[in-house]
This record gives sequence, C-alpha cells and structure tokens, in this order.
Amino acid sequence: MAAFLLLILGPGMAPGQDTGRGFINAREFAESQGIAFQWFPMQKMLVMSKGPRLMRMVVDQTQAVVDNQPFTLPAAPHIEDGQVMVPARAIIRVFGSDAGPTPPPAAPTPEPPPVVVPPPPPATVVDPGSPAPMTAQESTPDGGQAPILVTARHSTREDHTRVVLEFDGNVSYTTESPAPNKFKLRINGCQNLIPTKRSNPAGRDLKGVSFNSGANRQGLVLTFDLHDGGKPPTIETVGNPFRMILSFAAPPGAVLATATAAVATATTPTPAAASATAKTPSNTASAAPSLTTPPPATPAESAKAVPEVSIEVPPATLTRSIFQGRAIIIDAGHGGPDKGATVEGLPPEKDITLAVAQALHRNLRAMGFTAYLVRSSDTQIAADRRQALTNKAGGDLFVSIHVGASGDENQAGAACYWFDSKGLSLEVDTGGKLSPQLVFNDWTQATRFDLARFLAQKVRDRLTTHLEMKDRGAMGLPLQPLKFIVYPAIVVELGMLSHPTEGPRLAAKGFQDAAAQAIANGIVDFFNGIRLNP
Ligand SMILES: [Zn+2]
Repeated sequence: MAAFLLLILGPGMAPGQDTGRGFINAREFAESQGIAFQWFPMQKMLVMSKGPRLMRMVVDQTQAVVDNQPFTLPAAPHIEDGQVMVPARAIIRVFGSDAGPTPPPAAPTPEPPPVVVPPPPPATVVDPGSPAPMTAQESTPDGGQAPILVTARHSTREDHTRVVLEFDGNVSYTTESPAPNKFKLRINGCQNLIPTKRSNPAGRDLKGVSFNSGANRQGLVLTFDLHDGGKPPTIETVGNPFRMILSFAAPPGAVLATATAAVATATTPTPAAASATAKTPSNTASAAPSLTTPPPATPAESAKAVPEVSIEVPPATLTRSIFQGRAIIIDAGHGGPDKGATVEGLPPEKDITLAVAQALHRNLRAMGFTAYLVRSSDTQIAADRRQALTNKAGGDLFVSIHVGASGDENQAGAACYWFDSKGLSLEVDTGGKLSPQLVFNDWTQATRFDLARFLAQKVRDRLTTHLEMKDRGAMGLPLQPLKFIVYPAIVVELGMLSHPTEGPRLAAKGFQDAAAQAIANGIVDFFNGIRLNP
C-alpha cells in the first residue's frame, strides 16, 4: 500500500503528507486499478466503480456520492489538459482497500474519448414499484442523536396554506392518504418528540392536524384533516436547517386548486406560470391553464366513449451511434391517491401518464437506448423522493409525462417545458444559516437548461408533427417535477383531458402509443442534433 501511494502521489508528496490537495489523473488511476471509469461530458460527471463500490464526482464540485451516500471531497475535481484530475487521498480512501499494489502504467493514456460507453444499470433501483420502506431509527449510524422536530409553523396565503416543519438534521418521510379527507405524513429517522413550539394551521385550507409518535415509539406521524374535496399537499424539502414545506391548496370553490405539478414556491410567478397559482375563484380561463387541475370530478357514472385511434409513427434513426445506450429516465406523473387531472368518464391523468411512460420505455429500449421508469405501477411517490430517485439514477435525460386539464374546456394541445427560474424566489427563512436561495442558485448555475430547452423543442416538434395536435409551445416554467434535477429534464404535457374531443383521444391506446413514439423520436432528434462539449 505504501509503495502504491508513493507511486500515485508522485515525487514531492510523501504518503504521510496529508494535504488533501494532491491530484491524480482519474482515468490512469482507474485503469491501473481495474476500476470501471465513465465520463459524462454533458454533466461533467465522473463515475468510478469496482465491485459493489460506486463513486460519482462532478467537476468543480466538492460534493461527491459514494455508494449513494454524500461524500465530501477535500478539493473539487478539475480538468487539466483534457484529463479529469481528482483528489488522490479521497480516491484512495474510497477504493484503496481494494486497490491492489499494481503500479499505474508508465505511459499516460491518451485523452478520454468524448463520449461514455453505455452506462451500466444505475446502482440504485429506479423502478421501485412502491416507495422503498425507510426504517425509523432513533440514533444515527455513527451513534449520534437522531434529529428532532424543532418547530412546526404555518402561514396562510392567497391560495394555499403552508406548513413548515423544521428539523435539526435530515429525515426521510413517507405519505399516505388513508381516507378521502385525511393525509398522513410519517417522518422516519427522527426522535419521537412532539415539539412544544408549534402553530395550529386549522382554518380555510385545513381542518386540523394531530401529532403522534410512530409505531414502537419510532419517528413521528402527523395526521392532517382536510376539508371536503381537499387534496394532499405538495411537499418540498430544503436543507440547512432541514425543513419540509407542505402546501395545502385552498379547497375548490375558495380558489382554483393547484396541481401537484404546480409552482410550489413561486412567490412572484411569471405571467405564464400564473395559472398554477390562480388568484381568484373567477380565474378559470387564464392564459396558460395547462397545469391547473379542475375541481375533483364526481365519480364517473357514464364513461365517455374512447375513440379508436390509429396513428402511424415511424421510429426515427439515431445517426450518431456514440449515443447508443444513453440512459433516459421516464417519470409517469402522479400515481396512487394522487390522480392528477381528472375528468368525469375518463381515466385519470395518472393512468394515462403510466401507459405512455411504459410505451416510451419499450420504444427507447427497442431503439438502442437504456431507459428506466421512476414508477411502473399505480403508486404514489412523494415529489422529493422522485427527485432523489431521478438524480440517483444518473441518467442522461429526464422526461416527466403529464396531461393537462383546464376549467376552460376549449383549451387543447401539447406542450413541453424546461425549467426556468424566472420569477421564482425561495422563501428565505434562514435563521442566519445557509439560505435556500443560495442552494437554489448553485443548482441553477450547475444545470444545463440550454440542453433541456433543446430537448423540449425537439419533443414538441415531434408531438405536433406526428399527432396533429395544437401546438401549445415549448417554454420555460419553474415546474416542481423539474426542480433540482441535475441533468437535462423536461415535462411533456400531452394534451388537455378537459377538452371534449382531445380528452377521450388521450385515453385511447392508439394515441398513447403514438405519443410515446413521438417523444422517443424527439429524443433521437436531440441526440442527432446536439454538439458535444469540446
Ligand atoms: Zn400532472
């Protein structure tokens, strides 16, 4: 081991000299140690794996991931003469115990090719079927105390009530809707202490909330009583301190309800995003009502006639074989108790998105891509868990599939969105610590929205060409499903369920298959059209 260290640290850096700043050529190191090495130029991401061990690093970032756990590097990887240089000590710590004494090759290897070999299946299973159970624990693995819920506070806004739960450490959670007007939040990995500092959010948007400790006195369970027709909240988490922000939309009638895919934290929405935070009860025909959900429909008694749809969509050809095997992560919007948009007599949005996602999954695989589904069954996955699954999957592109609905049934057409932070400002409540805005800024700076925009345009072009639908455009919006996704990500909105002819068409298998092929073709156009990073 000592000889090995000397060799890779080179002259001038003795093994005992732990500055943490010595860099080695990642590719050379990997090759010398039999470590699989992949370079994702678009994301400037490096993945090294050996046996069960997997390490992911991003150029210019000290935050890395080892075996799906956060891992802080002493210094950020950087590029030098076209080679990725990584901090030596950290790599040795991660791979050292397995790394044999084989010296690195004498001659440096040539430049890394610009494109990765097809990535292996991600280390995490992206297709959980159901949210993975999270075990509650009262103490952390390193023997420290589990976090506590420090405070629960709330504020009532124009169209929603926001409940903020603040912890002194990170926790995980699961959600349940055990009855139509009940919403349960199970918080795991925290102590079962109910805070004395808490406000009561009972009012227009909520009937009340009760706090209990979880089963076997592990974790906490919060049960929210909703008004009739009340919907489960959207949930966001932010760090430093760790907070969960639950937004309960005002009940139908008070204002137009917001969709799950709504702008959850926009305080000053753009005009285009205004529909997601509709202001008044009369605001049923806003400019872009695409992401709003009409009041819940009464149970379907008369199913609408679903037309026979047959649209021939020939698969596009990937002309750049270097992109064979690229990984596309497919997110079927909503699921489980979260039905998404609903219209009487038609299947809910969650069923249509799943059918299209599954067809897209098949098509992409048939076309030579790697593809994964975030959900493959009718299950609810909380927004932040979707984000975590998506990011952990380490894909090349992310496509979230949705269907729109509007109080104005004349609205029709397909649209594609990329994330645009315009008009978005995070609630700043930092307590003197790191501001969520800074975290958000960091993400926006590190993310290739230009690629997401290019993808949205390509998919939009195909949808409107193949499906003969009204073109509602490709545009940037601060949409929840796209937030904090670390590679190019889009929301595809296939059409309006509330439209008298488009709605039933969306439910037709022939349409769903054609839509899936059109999206797949848009993805091919994307890869055929992009230029690689130098
Ligand atoms: Zn949706």
